[in-house]
Amino acid sequence: MQDKWVLVTGAGSGIGLATAIAFARRGASLVVSDIDAAGVRRAQEAVEALGRPCLALVADVASEASMIALADAVHARIGAVDVLVNNAGVAFLGPFLETPASEWRRTFDINLMGIIHGCQAFLPRMIAAGGSRRIVNVASLAAIAPVPNMSVYAASKSAVLGLCDVLAMELAGTNVGVTAVCPGIIDTPITRGRRAAVIADDQLAQLQQFYRTKGARPEVVADAIVAAVVAGRELVLTGPFAKPMYHLKRVSRALVRKLSLDNAVKIGFWPIRGQDLSRH
Ligand code: NAD
Repeated sequence: MQDKWVLVTGAGSGIGLATAIAFARRGASLVVSDIDAAGVRRAQEAVEALGRPCLALVADVASEASMIALADAVHARIGAVDVLVNNAGVAFLGPFLETPASEWRRTFDINLMGIIHGCQAFLPRMIAAGGSRRIVNVASLAAIAPVPNMSVYAASKSAVLGLCDVLAMELAGTNVGVTAVCPGIIDTPITRGRRAAVIADDQLAQLQQFYRTKGARPEVVADAIVAAVVAGRELVLTGPFAKPMYHLKRVSRALVRKLSLDNAVKIGFWPIRGQDLSRH
Protein backbone atom coordinates (compact mmCIF):
# COMPACT_ATOMS: atom_id res chain seq x y z
CA MET A 1 0.00 0.00 0.00
CA GLN A 2 3.08 2.22 -0.05
CA ASP A 3 2.08 5.76 -1.09
CA LYS A 4 -1.44 4.76 -2.15
CA TRP A 5 -4.18 7.20 -1.12
CA VAL A 6 -6.97 5.56 0.86
CA LEU A 7 -10.16 7.40 1.86
CA VAL A 8 -12.21 6.07 4.79
CA THR A 9 -15.67 7.42 5.70
CA GLY A 10 -16.81 7.05 9.30
CA ALA A 11 -13.10 7.07 10.22
CA GLY A 12 -13.71 8.70 13.60
CA SER A 13 -14.59 5.53 15.46
CA GLY A 14 -14.66 1.73 15.51
CA ILE A 15 -14.02 -0.13 12.27
CA GLY A 16 -13.33 3.04 10.27
CA LEU A 17 -10.67 4.28 12.70
CA ALA A 18 -9.02 0.84 12.86
CA THR A 19 -9.09 0.61 9.05
CA ALA A 20 -7.42 3.99 8.60
CA ILE A 21 -4.69 2.95 11.05
CA ALA A 22 -4.25 -0.47 9.40
CA PHE A 23 -3.75 1.10 5.96
CA ALA A 24 -1.36 3.69 7.41
CA ARG A 25 0.70 0.91 9.03
CA ARG A 26 1.16 -0.58 5.57
CA GLY A 27 2.47 2.68 4.17
CA ALA A 28 -0.70 4.21 2.74
CA SER A 29 -1.55 7.91 2.90
CA LEU A 30 -4.99 8.61 4.27
CA VAL A 31 -8.02 10.80 3.80
CA VAL A 32 -10.09 10.40 6.97
CA SER A 33 -13.65 11.65 6.96
CA ASP A 34 -16.54 11.58 9.41
CA ILE A 35 -19.56 13.65 10.39
CA ASP A 36 -17.98 13.94 13.85
CA ALA A 37 -15.25 16.61 13.80
CA ALA A 38 -13.60 15.37 17.02
CA GLY A 39 -13.49 11.84 15.59
CA VAL A 40 -11.85 13.09 12.39
CA ARG A 41 -9.16 14.85 14.43
CA ARG A 42 -8.55 11.68 16.46
CA ALA A 43 -8.13 9.65 13.30
CA GLN A 44 -5.77 12.21 11.78
CA GLU A 45 -3.59 12.21 14.91
CA ALA A 46 -3.44 8.41 14.89
CA VAL A 47 -2.41 8.26 11.23
CA GLU A 48 0.14 11.07 11.53
CA ALA A 49 1.62 9.38 14.60
CA LEU A 50 2.53 6.54 12.22
CA GLY A 51 4.38 9.02 10.02
CA ARG A 52 1.87 8.94 7.18
CA PRO A 53 0.32 11.97 5.44
CA CYS A 54 -3.31 12.46 6.37
CA LEU A 55 -6.02 14.78 5.09
CA ALA A 56 -8.91 15.15 7.56
CA LEU A 57 -12.27 16.36 6.29
CA VAL A 58 -15.69 16.51 7.91
CA ALA A 59 -18.49 15.22 5.66
CA ASP A 60 -21.99 13.81 6.01
CA VAL A 61 -22.33 10.72 3.82
CA ALA A 62 -26.13 11.13 3.84
CA SER A 63 -25.82 14.43 2.01
CA GLU A 64 -25.05 14.35 -1.71
CA ALA A 65 -23.85 17.96 -1.58
CA SER A 66 -21.51 17.20 1.33
CA MET A 67 -20.02 14.19 -0.47
CA ILE A 68 -19.53 16.15 -3.69
CA ALA A 69 -17.78 18.87 -1.69
CA LEU A 70 -15.59 16.18 -0.07
CA ALA A 71 -14.70 14.74 -3.47
CA ASP A 72 -13.92 18.20 -4.88
CA ALA A 73 -11.59 18.92 -1.94
CA VAL A 74 -9.85 15.56 -2.27
CA HIS A 75 -9.47 15.76 -6.05
CA ALA A 76 -8.08 19.29 -5.81
CA ARG A 77 -5.45 18.22 -3.25
CA ILE A 78 -4.46 14.68 -4.27
CA GLY A 79 -6.39 13.61 -7.38
CA ALA A 80 -8.18 10.26 -7.65
CA VAL A 81 -8.01 8.03 -4.58
CA ASP A 82 -6.62 4.51 -4.92
CA VAL A 83 -9.01 2.97 -2.41
CA LEU A 84 -12.41 4.28 -1.28
CA VAL A 85 -13.73 2.67 1.91
CA ASN A 86 -17.43 3.48 2.32
CA ASN A 87 -17.66 2.53 5.98
CA ALA A 88 -19.86 5.08 7.79
CA GLY A 89 -23.01 3.49 9.16
CA VAL A 90 -25.56 3.52 11.96
CA ALA A 91 -27.88 1.03 13.63
CA PHE A 92 -31.43 1.24 14.91
CA LEU A 93 -32.69 -1.38 17.33
CA GLY A 94 -36.39 -2.17 17.49
CA PRO A 95 -39.17 -4.38 16.12
CA PHE A 96 -40.54 -3.57 12.68
CA LEU A 97 -43.83 -2.16 13.98
CA GLU A 98 -41.93 0.10 16.39
CA THR A 99 -39.58 1.44 13.72
CA PRO A 100 -40.97 4.73 12.43
CA ALA A 101 -40.64 5.77 8.81
CA SER A 102 -38.28 8.54 9.94
CA GLU A 103 -35.78 5.90 11.22
CA TRP A 104 -36.11 3.95 7.94
CA ARG A 105 -35.28 7.11 6.01
CA ARG A 106 -32.41 8.10 8.32
CA THR A 107 -30.82 4.62 8.30
CA PHE A 108 -31.14 4.23 4.52
CA ASP A 109 -29.84 7.78 3.98
CA ILE A 110 -26.65 6.90 5.86
CA ASN A 111 -26.12 3.16 5.30
CA LEU A 112 -27.20 2.93 1.65
CA MET A 113 -27.34 6.45 0.18
CA GLY A 114 -24.05 7.22 1.95
CA ILE A 115 -22.36 4.50 -0.08
CA ILE A 116 -24.12 5.57 -3.27
CA HIS A 117 -23.04 9.18 -2.75
CA GLY A 118 -19.46 8.01 -2.12
CA CYS A 119 -19.37 5.87 -5.26
CA GLN A 120 -20.96 8.54 -7.44
CA ALA A 121 -18.63 11.27 -6.20
CA PHE A 122 -15.35 9.33 -6.46
CA LEU A 123 -15.78 6.55 -9.02
CA PRO A 124 -15.63 8.61 -12.25
CA ARG A 125 -12.21 10.04 -11.28
CA MET A 126 -11.00 6.59 -10.17
CA ILE A 127 -11.88 5.14 -13.58
CA ALA A 128 -10.48 8.11 -15.52
CA ALA A 129 -7.17 7.97 -13.62
CA GLY A 130 -6.51 4.32 -14.58
CA GLY A 131 -4.25 2.03 -12.53
CA SER A 132 -5.48 -0.56 -10.08
CA ARG A 133 -8.08 0.92 -7.70
CA ARG A 134 -10.79 -0.45 -5.41
CA ILE A 135 -14.07 0.48 -3.76
CA VAL A 136 -14.73 -1.20 -0.39
CA ASN A 137 -18.32 -1.08 0.84
CA VAL A 138 -19.02 -2.09 4.43
CA ALA A 139 -22.22 -4.17 4.64
CA SER A 140 -22.81 -6.61 7.51
CA LEU A 141 -23.49 -10.22 8.44
CA ALA A 142 -26.99 -8.81 9.03
CA ALA A 143 -27.40 -8.91 5.23
CA ILE A 144 -26.91 -12.68 5.30
CA ALA A 145 -28.15 -13.87 8.71
CA PRO A 146 -30.19 -11.10 10.36
CA VAL A 147 -31.88 -11.33 13.75
CA PRO A 148 -35.13 -9.84 15.09
CA ASN A 149 -35.21 -6.17 16.04
CA MET A 150 -32.99 -5.06 13.19
CA SER A 151 -35.33 -4.87 10.19
CA VAL A 152 -34.18 -1.44 9.05
CA TYR A 153 -30.49 -2.22 9.58
CA ALA A 154 -30.66 -5.63 7.86
CA ALA A 155 -32.63 -4.22 4.93
CA SER A 156 -30.13 -1.39 4.43
CA LYS A 157 -27.17 -3.79 4.53
CA SER A 158 -28.86 -6.25 2.12
CA ALA A 159 -29.26 -3.34 -0.27
CA VAL A 160 -25.53 -2.63 0.06
CA LEU A 161 -24.71 -6.25 -0.86
CA GLY A 162 -26.99 -6.04 -3.91
CA LEU A 163 -25.34 -2.82 -4.98
CA CYS A 164 -21.88 -4.39 -4.63
CA ASP A 165 -22.85 -7.32 -6.87
CA VAL A 166 -24.13 -5.06 -9.63
CA LEU A 167 -21.20 -2.64 -9.34
CA ALA A 168 -18.75 -5.55 -9.57
CA MET A 169 -20.44 -6.72 -12.77
CA GLU A 170 -20.63 -3.27 -14.31
CA LEU A 171 -17.01 -2.49 -13.43
CA ALA A 172 -15.63 -5.85 -14.59
CA GLY A 173 -12.96 -5.12 -17.17
CA THR A 174 -12.26 -1.67 -15.75
CA ASN A 175 -9.41 -0.74 -13.42
CA VAL A 176 -11.72 -0.53 -10.38
CA GLY A 177 -12.62 -3.58 -8.28
CA VAL A 178 -15.38 -3.83 -5.67
CA THR A 179 -15.20 -5.45 -2.24
CA ALA A 180 -18.20 -6.09 0.02
CA VAL A 181 -17.39 -6.48 3.72
CA CYS A 182 -19.66 -8.48 6.04
CA PRO A 183 -18.47 -8.27 9.64
CA GLY A 184 -20.12 -10.30 12.39
CA ILE A 185 -20.30 -8.92 15.92
CA ILE A 186 -17.61 -6.30 16.46
CA ASP A 187 -16.92 -4.44 19.70
CA THR A 188 -17.48 -0.80 18.70
CA PRO A 189 -19.72 2.01 19.99
CA ILE A 190 -22.38 1.17 17.34
CA THR A 191 -24.68 -0.44 19.93
CA ARG A 192 -24.94 2.95 21.65
CA GLY A 193 -27.10 4.09 18.72
CA ARG A 194 -30.85 4.68 18.59
CA ARG A 195 -33.53 2.27 19.74
CA ALA A 196 -37.30 1.88 19.91
CA ALA A 197 -39.01 2.60 23.22
CA VAL A 198 -39.86 -1.11 23.69
CA ILE A 199 -36.18 -2.03 23.94
CA ALA A 200 -35.71 -1.84 27.69
CA ASP A 201 -32.51 -0.64 29.39
CA ASP A 202 -31.68 -4.13 30.73
CA GLN A 203 -32.02 -5.69 27.26
CA LEU A 204 -29.76 -3.03 25.79
CA ALA A 205 -27.26 -3.55 28.62
CA GLN A 206 -27.19 -7.31 27.88
CA LEU A 207 -26.59 -6.64 24.19
CA GLN A 208 -23.83 -4.12 24.86
CA GLN A 209 -22.20 -6.51 27.30
CA PHE A 210 -22.21 -9.27 24.65
CA TYR A 211 -20.60 -6.99 22.07
CA ARG A 212 -17.97 -5.95 24.61
CA THR A 213 -17.09 -9.44 25.80
CA LYS A 214 -17.72 -11.65 22.75
CA GLY A 215 -17.34 -9.24 19.84
CA ALA A 216 -14.18 -9.21 17.75
CA ARG A 217 -11.96 -6.17 17.93
CA PRO A 218 -12.36 -3.69 15.04
CA GLU A 219 -8.71 -4.33 14.12
CA VAL A 220 -9.76 -7.82 12.98
CA VAL A 221 -12.08 -6.27 10.37
CA ALA A 222 -9.48 -3.65 9.45
CA ASP A 223 -6.80 -6.28 8.77
CA ALA A 224 -9.27 -8.32 6.70
CA ILE A 225 -10.12 -5.23 4.62
CA VAL A 226 -6.45 -4.45 3.94
CA ALA A 227 -5.77 -8.09 3.01
CA ALA A 228 -8.78 -8.12 0.66
CA VAL A 229 -7.64 -4.93 -1.07
CA VAL A 230 -4.12 -6.30 -1.52
CA ALA A 231 -5.45 -9.63 -2.86
CA GLY A 232 -8.32 -8.09 -4.88
CA ARG A 233 -11.00 -10.13 -3.08
CA GLU A 234 -14.69 -9.33 -3.63
CA LEU A 235 -16.14 -10.60 -0.37
CA VAL A 236 -14.84 -10.27 3.19
CA LEU A 237 -16.49 -12.40 5.89
CA THR A 238 -14.94 -11.48 9.22
CA GLY A 239 -15.64 -11.61 12.95
CA PRO A 240 -17.82 -14.02 14.94
CA PHE A 241 -20.37 -16.14 13.04
CA ALA A 242 -19.71 -14.52 9.63
CA LYS A 243 -18.00 -17.36 7.73
CA PRO A 244 -20.02 -20.28 9.16
CA MET A 245 -23.35 -18.51 8.66
CA TYR A 246 -22.50 -17.55 5.08
CA HIS A 247 -21.52 -21.09 4.11
CA LEU A 248 -24.37 -22.69 6.04
CA LYS A 249 -26.92 -20.54 4.26
CA ARG A 250 -25.90 -22.11 0.96
CA VAL A 251 -26.94 -25.46 2.46
CA SER A 252 -29.94 -24.67 4.65
CA ARG A 253 -31.78 -21.38 5.19
CA ALA A 254 -33.89 -23.10 7.89
CA LEU A 255 -30.81 -24.02 9.92
CA VAL A 256 -29.41 -20.48 9.61
CA ARG A 257 -32.77 -19.11 10.78
CA LYS A 258 -32.72 -21.42 13.82
CA LEU A 259 -29.11 -20.59 14.73
CA SER A 260 -29.74 -16.87 14.23
CA LEU A 261 -32.70 -16.95 16.61
CA ASP A 262 -30.70 -18.94 19.19
CA ASN A 263 -27.87 -16.41 18.92
CA ALA A 264 -30.32 -13.49 19.09
CA VAL A 265 -31.49 -14.66 22.52
CA LYS A 266 -27.90 -15.11 23.74
CA ILE A 267 -26.78 -11.72 22.44
CA GLY A 268 -29.82 -9.77 23.61
CA PHE A 269 -31.51 -8.94 20.30
CA TRP A 270 -34.51 -11.09 21.21
CA PRO A 271 -37.18 -11.42 22.53
CA ILE A 272 -38.92 -8.10 22.76
CA ARG A 273 -41.31 -7.32 25.56
CA GLY A 274 -44.36 -9.58 25.51
CA GLN A 275 -43.09 -12.07 22.90
CA ASP A 276 -43.49 -15.76 23.61
CA LEU A 277 -40.29 -17.59 22.67
CA SER A 278 -41.90 -21.03 23.00
CA ARG A 279 -43.90 -20.41 19.80
CA HIS A 280 -40.72 -20.50 17.71
P1 NAD B 1 -19.12 3.22 15.07
O1 NAD B 1 -20.37 3.82 15.61
O2 NAD B 1 -17.98 2.95 15.97
O3 NAD B 1 -18.56 4.09 13.84
C1 NAD B 1 -19.41 4.63 12.86
C2 NAD B 1 -18.82 5.96 12.40
O4 NAD B 1 -19.65 6.47 11.34
C3 NAD B 1 -18.82 7.03 13.52
O5 NAD B 1 -17.55 7.63 13.61
C4 NAD B 1 -19.88 8.02 13.08
O6 NAD B 1 -19.64 9.35 13.50
C5 NAD B 1 -19.82 7.87 11.56
N1 NAD B 1 -21.07 8.34 10.94
C6 NAD B 1 -22.34 8.12 11.34
N2 NAD B 1 -23.19 8.79 10.54
C7 NAD B 1 -22.43 9.43 9.61
C8 NAD B 1 -22.74 10.28 8.52
N3 NAD B 1 -24.00 10.62 8.23
N4 NAD B 1 -21.70 10.75 7.79
C9 NAD B 1 -20.43 10.44 8.08
N5 NAD B 1 -20.07 9.67 9.11
C10 NAD B 1 -21.07 9.16 9.87
O7 NAD B 1 -19.61 1.87 14.36
P2 NAD B 1 -18.79 0.70 13.63
O8 NAD B 1 -19.25 -0.56 14.26
O9 NAD B 1 -17.35 0.97 13.53
O10 NAD B 1 -19.48 0.76 12.19
C11 NAD B 1 -18.75 0.94 10.98
C12 NAD B 1 -19.47 0.18 9.88
O11 NAD B 1 -19.42 -1.22 10.16
C13 NAD B 1 -20.96 0.53 9.76
O12 NAD B 1 -21.32 0.60 8.39
C14 NAD B 1 -21.65 -0.64 10.44
O13 NAD B 1 -22.95 -0.83 9.99
C15 NAD B 1 -20.71 -1.77 10.02
N6 NAD B 1 -20.81 -2.98 10.84
C16 NAD B 1 -20.58 -2.96 12.18
C17 NAD B 1 -20.70 -4.14 12.91
C18 NAD B 1 -20.45 -4.18 14.40
O14 NAD B 1 -20.78 -5.22 15.02
N7 NAD B 1 -19.90 -3.16 15.02
C19 NAD B 1 -21.03 -5.33 12.27
C20 NAD B 1 -21.26 -5.30 10.91
C21 NAD B 1 -21.15 -4.13 10.18
